[in-house]
Amino acid sequence: MSATARRILVLYTGGTIGMAPGPQGLAPMTDFAACLQAWRADLQDCGDLPAFEVRPLAPAIDSASLRPAHWPRLARTLTEAWDHFDGFVVLHGTDTLAWSAAALSCLLRGADKPVILTGSQIPWQAARSDAPAHLEAALRLAADARLAGVTLCFGRHLWPGARAVKWSSQSLDAFAAPNDLPLADLAATLRVHTPRLRRATPPRRFREAVAGDAAVAVITVHPGLPAQTVRAQLAVPGLRGAVLCSYGLGNLPEDPELLAALAEARDRGVMLVNRSQCPHGGVAPGTYASSHALQALGVLPAGDLTLEAAFAKLQVLLAEPTDDEATRRAAWFENWAGEWGTVSPPQGLAQA
Ligand code: ASP
Repeated sequence: MSATARRILVLYTGGTIGMAPGPQGLAPMTDFAACLQAWRADLQDCGDLPAFEVRPLAPAIDSASLRPAHWPRLARTLTEAWDHFDGFVVLHGTDTLAWSAAALSCLLRGADKPVILTGSQIPWQAARSDAPAHLEAALRLAADARLAGVTLCFGRHLWPGARAVKWSSQSLDAFAAPNDLPLADLAATLRVHTPRLRRATPPRRFREAVAGDAAVAVITVHPGLPAQTVRAQLAVPGLRGAVLCSYGLGNLPEDPELLAALAEARDRGVMLVNRSQCPHGGVAPGTYASSHALQALGVLPAGDLTLEAAFAKLQVLLAEPTDDEATRRAAWFENWAGEWGTVSPPQGLAQA
């Protein structure tokens, strides 16, 4: 099938890309879908740009206000339309674009069609807007039969959805994958790096809702972090998991009270994950005595997962229909959607 014959669904969720100035600042445009179709009709030379249908999510959300409960809604909208389209473009605010890319990667793992997330730093109708170029690239990529699964298209690159982060609030190349390479370069020609494309396993479609808003905490270690702060964060009602952002290779301050707070949470069934604060690299549990203590507590290492991927995977994992802790721990190490990178999941820890 030629790219132009492919049908693409464009889901507009909100974000700068579809906003225009209003009395109180930027706000979603009411006629954004019509605006996109007019843009397509006005293009003199469309090349192999595919036809598309636009569905706005109502109400549109500023992605800074996105909550985990939005993710199953987005996933469900896509899977309900799955059989009627060849590819999908999700227009989304940049603030939590990488978080949603990670969550949709987990929820749609095994997806056999491309789901391209994009947004823009500058609104569609503003001077110098990066929005039309992003939509055009995303549409072409969504019609590319070589791609499957969730990816993030922004600036000059296409990134694996489960590996991307927003690294700049200003740059037009605002996203990066600190531990990975782009899947495509958007230069004068659009170059897809075919050998880097991954197929996720096991194949599966979205089924369950993710856990509630308070299900997963993010705790950042800092000099002098009081154990009672950690204890309070881990005592939030409904909490079922926590990502601990540790130092370097996965180290914590030497503080028995801090370890005791973590042990108490673990004993209540809270799933704990150890992720490095360093954007590049990852944790290497057991290298230092301080990370060995976490290992001994059964805290799961996050390898070189991004914070976004660790958080989203925990959310999705905790909503899986199983009460068996060993099954959940083993699933943490499965490579659902390319979230685990070159640092292979440590062997033998799943059963710890
Ligand atoms: N606050 C906006 C959002 O994330 C910013 C953006 O789209 O760049 O929805």
